[in-house]
Formats: sequence, C-alpha cells, structure tokens
Amino acid sequence: MMRIACSALIALFALSLSSAHAQDAAPQWSLAIHGGAGVIERSSLTPEQDAAYRAALQGALDAGSAVLKSGGSALDAVQAAVQVMEDDPLFNAGRGAVFTAAGRNELDAAIMNGSDLTAGSVAGLTTTRHPVAAARAVMERSPHVMLIGPGADAFAASVGLEQVDPAFFFTERRWQGLVKALTEAGQPVPERPAGAPASPTAPGAQAEIAPPLNEKKFGTVGAVALDSQGRLAAATSTGGMTAKRWGRVGDVPIIGAGTYASNADGCAVSATGDGEYFIRATVARDICARIAAGAATQAAGQAEIADAERLGGKGGVIVMGLDGRPAFAMSTSGMYRGAASSTDPARVAIYADEP
Ligand code: ASP
Repeated sequence: MMRIACSALIALFALSLSSAHAQDAAPQWSLAIHGGAGVIERSSLTPEQDAAYRAALQGALDAGSAVLKSGGSALDAVQAAVQVMEDDPLFNAGRGAVFTAAGRNELDAAIMNGSDLTAGSVAGLTTTRHPVAAARAVMERSPHVMLIGPGADAFAASVGLEQVDPAFFFTERRWQGLVKALTEAGQPVPERPAGAPASPTAPGAQAEIAPPLNEKKFGTVGAVALDSQGRLAAATSTGGMTAKRWGRVGDVPIIGAGTYASNADGCAVSATGDGEYFIRATVARDICARIAAGAATQAAGQAEIADAERLGGKGGVIVMGLDGRPAFAMSTSGMYRGAASSTDPARVAIYADEP
C-alpha cells in the first residue's frame, strides 16, 4: 500500500515538473518591439490616445509574429514590424517623423543580422517610404554598411524601393511640435514644406487628424527577434530629434549605438533615447558585451541604461536573448512597447510600471 502511494506521489511530482517545464519551455520564436520612450504618464494621454497607441503596437506585433509563426526569419520579422510603425503617423519614424530646424523630415534606420553580423544603415533619407527596407538593402545589396543623404535615397530607388514625395512624411502634429520648439528657442520658423496640407488655422482648411500629443518623448521605433532557427536580428527607425540641425545623425543608424545583434554574444538590441548620449555610451554593443560576459538580458539592459543616464542621456532599450525572453529597460516614465512569442500571448504596454 505504502509502495503504491509512494510511486503515485513520485508520478505526480514528475507530472508537475514536466508541466512546469512545458510552461517554462523556451519559446521557439519571440519578438519584442518599441515605439519610443520618454515622459509618458497616464495623465499625458487621453483614453483614446492610449488606446490608439496600444492598437498600433498590436498591429506591429501581429505583422512580425505572422512572419515568425510561419517559420520566417528574424530579419524579415523585425523589418515587417518596423515598417508597420514607419507607416503609422503616431510614431517618429517614416510617416510621422519629426522635423529638422529647416522644416524637413530626415530619416535614419538600421538593421542587423545576428547570425552573421551583417548590418546595414541609412541616414538623412527624404524620399524612401520605408527607411528600414533601405537599410536592409544596404546590408544585402551593396558592399557598404552605411549610406547617407541623397545617395542613400538614390540607392534605395535603384533597388526598387518605393519613393515618395517628401510631403508624404508630413504630419500637422509634428509640424506644430517644430514650431513650438523653434519659437521657445527663439529661432526662426521655416516655411511650411512644399506639398504639405494647408495649415489648419488657414481659412477653409480641414481640421487635423489628432490633437497634439505630449512631445516630451522620443518616438523612435524598433524591433528585436529570435526565429525558430535560433537566429537573432534587430532593427530601428527614426526621424531623429525635433529641430535637429546641420545634418545631425543620432544613434539609430550607428551600428553598436542604437542597434546591434549578435548570435555569438546571444543578444539583439534596439534603443530609443537621447541619441548623442547613446552613441557615446555605445549602448547596444555594450549590452551585448555584458550578456556575452554572463549578464542576464534584463540586468544588462538596465546597467547600460543607467550608464547612459550617468552621461546625461535618457531612454530605453529592448533586448532579446537566445532564450527568447525579451527584456525592457528604461530611465523614462514610459516606453511604447510590446512582445509576443510562440509560448506567450502578445502583450503591449506604455507606462514604466506596467508588467
Ligand atoms: N534615438 C533617436 C535619435 O537620437 C531619438 C529617439 O529615440 O526617438 O535620433
């Protein structure tokens, strides 16, 4: 009797272990995204704005997850997720990018393949609809890693990537953000760009899409992924900083600063924040070095964000490890973000205190 009870107990224990194990099983594929970090508090978003951001993040997660679910590559997944956010005027990337002091949208992006350390990036694009696609083309279809300005747009056009009128990227909200920033700084406000819709204050003009949102945030977009073949990839895309000048380029297209992926190190990273400081802290590469040296993804992200903050820069990172568990770290009150994997349902979050 005693023996039967004992073996029943052992069987039960084994069962519970194996189900615990099944629950904890490493995901076959995994994706994490961000839509920028910054001063984002509950009081700064209306319920409608909060819902709009969550729906937009969900849409990007769905696009990337669909690729990974069907056995596609981490590279294709991060590109797909980022392109959805580049097309969404809510984010500071592609359509919806912030303006330079001269009243232009100049777009930066990067992508990196962790399995072979190939990478591509672009800076200062003005006519390529999907800057991340241009970065991918630089990686795969040119002998270079980084292209800038008109040459980068010409290259993108030459490989068949969609070109648009620069006014395609115009949004009233970002324009008003520029007007405010320049006025506060006592700098001249440029003419509205050619092709932009009439000012909503002009007689007879249509009312604009959304009310201006809190602009004290970054809004860059990015994605990191692990695919079912164990490959890691990262991608990031941005309009940079409002009122940037003189051809300014931030951390996003600098491989190792805003974007990095390495299967050898076991990490993929996409950052958002004060680019000047993220460049100096070599944020993305340092996170990978910390992970290669044995740090957990969360600890590595947090330590690096703390280092960047000590230099004076705020922001956030998303980090993917080979175990498919995403980590999010930030020194801001919020970061638009989301994650999905083969084992966990998709989730999105905005404020720092959300799980
Ligand atoms: N890191 C970006 C830049 O400095 C800005 C952002 O994250 O929104 O260009």
